[in-house]
Formats: sequence, structure tokens, C-alpha cells
Amino acid sequence: MTGILLARQGLTVRIFERQCHPRHHIGESLLPATFPILAKAGISHEELASRYQPKFGARFYDTQMDRITTFGFESHNTPASTPSLQVLREDFDSLLVERACTAGCLVQENAEVTQVDYKSASRHLTLTDGSSCGFNFVVDATGQSCMFARKRGTRQLVDGFGHVAVYNYFVDLPPHDQHDPRYITMYVFDGGWVWLIPLAGGVTSVGVVLSRRCVVPGQTAQDQFDRVTATMPRLHRRLQAAKATAPFRTIADYSYRVTEKHGDHFLLVGDAAGFLDPIFSSGVHLAISSADAAADAIVQTLKHNNPSALPQYDAYMRRGFAVFERFVDWFYHRHLVRDLFFMPNQPANIRQAIVDILAGYVWDLNNPLIKTLETSHQAGKTQCATV
Ligand SMILES: Cc1cc2nc3c(=O)[nH]c(=O)nc-3n(C[C@H](O)[C@H](O)[C@H](O)COP(=O)(O)OP(=O)(O)OC[C@H]3O[C@@H](n4cnc5c(N)ncnc54)[C@H](O)[C@@H]3O)c2cc1C
Repeated sequence: MTGILLARQGLTVRIFERQCHPRHHIGESLLPATFPILAKAGISHEELASRYQPKFGARFYDTQMDRITTFGFESHNTPASTPSLQVLREDFDSLLVERACTAGCLVQENAEVTQVDYKSASRHLTLTDGSSCGFNFVVDATGQSCMFARKRGTRQLVDGFGHVAVYNYFVDLPPHDQHDPRYITMYVFDGGWVWLIPLAGGVTSVGVVLSRRCVVPGQTAQDQFDRVTATMPRLHRRLQAAKATAPFRTIADYSYRVTEKHGDHFLLVGDAAGFLDPIFSSGVHLAISSADAAADAIVQTLKHNNPSALPQYDAYMRRGFAVFERFVDWFYHRHLVRDLFFMPNQPANIRQAIVDILAGYVWDLNNPLIKTLETSHQAGKTQCATV
């Protein structure tokens, strides 16, 4: 995405991708705030809506109290961006690559970058086949591989969020009113949560996220999945009637901060710049937002010689990341769902503030919840029920 935006501004862009698209990737549920940025890159909501499953909002099911609450994006101030979409990532990511080529980027697949020399006068990167490529500026978009952050020791694991995710794709999942296919549904239980994400073509992505204390050592991925879903009888019955279409996959230890998102001649975007537990589907939105802000910062740096553009990019991404991180922290440590999502007589402005964060508008300083997240973080102890 950074490449598309830079190429559209006349810069020469080369993209190196170690895999070959289409390739499997997790992360299907998108947020409404992402679509205006995609439109800037020439990818319209209309075009995407013709390919993918509409998403009208997010539902949280409290399994302990057997109650459900729905946050619909239609109440957001910018209805033009609704509904959001849930995408098959291998298809969506291939579309981005195709658009990068159309925009003029030179894309090389099966091309793993092994080394980047950004310090010497002859800045260049090296690929596995030994070939190299010079550059003026390099963007690390290596996702959870975090190429720069691992090498520079700036990646810090965030403990206390979800530890392991186990997921699969199902067809023929029997319908149920707890699972309206127009919404992403999260089943919340003590020690984790389960996602149900309907995709186009009758496929449903189902994943179990477990806190560290709830993982049973030695159990296979499928055993962990079955053990958790068996505690939710209605969901379990439906899953038993459905067909899993792939082997169960596992991802662990995926929440981390990256303390440095730029330096001389380099900048980090997307998961390479930090990643959070996916409870609020923030990953793709942060990735696309960072690509947008990064492209502006790089143009300011290279074309206008503006020395504050990269630090400003860094500060901007920290602010958006921090809002989601504090919201996730409330989810795991402060009964966000019980006390705030199911708050009795919930004031309309608070409901709106929740919807706006769930829709991805995390840079909106007029959002009262974003202000409270900031204050409670500074105080370190305010309960979310006092919002
Ligand atoms: C369990 C789970 C569920 C999730 N669910 C959601 C969701 O519902 N919604 C959502 O928005 N997000 C979700 N996410 C997050 C989402 O997957 C990521 O935030 C998003 O894909 C980040 O995009 P990216 O472009 O930064 O990285 P990626 O999409 O991972 O792309 C990085 C690319 O870099 C390539 N690469 C890596 N190293 C090299 C190298 N050395 N040389 C060349 N190429 C390299 C990789 O092959 C890859 O194609 C979820 C994440 C997890 C773990």
C-alpha cells in the first residue's frame, strides 16, 4: 500500500516479497475507517463491495451471562464508509499487489530480503539469491517478521493479552440468531474469546484466542479449539454440523510494541511497526493507515527535505496504536465487555464513542472515550465503569 501511494506521487518504487501471491493470511475483518484510505490509492469501496462480504458492525456475546450486544457502524458520523467488509486475505492481498504493479511499482515475488545496509553511503539491500538493490529510502513492511525491529532490538512483547490463536475455515455452518452473518461476532469467556467472521461464498472463519493461563500444554491445535468451543454448546453443535476446510492453524505471542518506527533513510509500517491482539480487528487498519502516513512522510523527506516528517509519522502512529492498545488492555484486565459494553442505561454518547473506536476512528480527539483511555492510562488505575 505504501508503494502504491508513493508510485502515484511519481517516486520509483521496488517491492520485494518473499512469498508468491495468492498466499494464505489471517486478518479478514476490516474497519470502516480503512476505506477512504484505500480509495486514495484508487481502490474503491464499490469495487471491493462487489467481491466481499458486507460487515455492518461488531457483536459481543457474553457467554457467562448469555447476552449479546450489537455495535452497528451505521451510527457512525460518516455513513458513506459503511458497511465495512470481511475479505479473504489471499484475494485482497493479491489485489493490492496487482494495483501496485498498475501504479508502476516493480514487484518481485519469491524475493526474500536478508540484509539491509542503510548506514553506508552505498545504501542497498541483499536478497537470498545474493543479488542486491540500491535505494534512497527503505520501508520495512515485513509484517510479524519485524525485520528491522528484531535486528535493532526494538521489539517488545506485550504480555497479558491473548497468547495463542487457533483457527480454521468452515462451510455449511447452520444459521443461528446469535450469529447474524452481517456482523463479526465475538464470543467472550473468562480467559479468551472466539471469533466468527462470515466471508463471501458461505465460508466462515472461526478462531479461538486463549490467554496464556488457559492453554493446555501438549494439546494439539484442534484439541485446544474443540475444548474451548465445547464449553459453548450451541456453537459447538453448529461447528459439528459444519465442515472444516483446512488444517487448524496456530499463531502465538503476536502482541508486541516496536519502540522505534523510523530512522535515517528507513521507516516501519504495519505489523513491522507493532501488532496488537486482534479482538478489535485493528491490524489491517493500522497497516493501511501507517502506509498512508508513511507515504506522506517519505514524500516530505525526499522531495521537500523536511526533517520533522519522519518523527511526526512516528508520533502519529504511536497515538493510534496506543488507543487500541489501551482498549485491548481494558478488554483483558478491566471487564470492558461486562462494565462498558453491557453498561446498564448506557448513555448514547458513550455508545457512539465505542462504535467510533470499533470503526477505527482512533485519532479523533473529540471522542470522550479516547480521552478517558488516555487519562486512565496516566492514572494507571481508573476503572472503565467510571467513563
Ligand atoms: C489471530 C489473528 C487474527 C487477526 N485478525 C484480524 C482481523 O480480523 N482484522 C484485521 O484487520 N487484522 C487482523 N489480524 C492482523 C492482520 O493479520 C495484520 O495486522 C495485517 O496483515 C498486517 O499487514 P502487514 O502488511 O503489516 O503485514 P503482512 O500482511 O503480514 O505482510 C507482510 C509481508 O512481508 C513478507 N515478508 C516478510 N519478511 C520478508 C522478507 N525478509 N523479505 C521479503 N518479504 C518479506 C511476508 O511474506 C508478507 O507477505 C489478525 C492477526 C492475528 C494474529
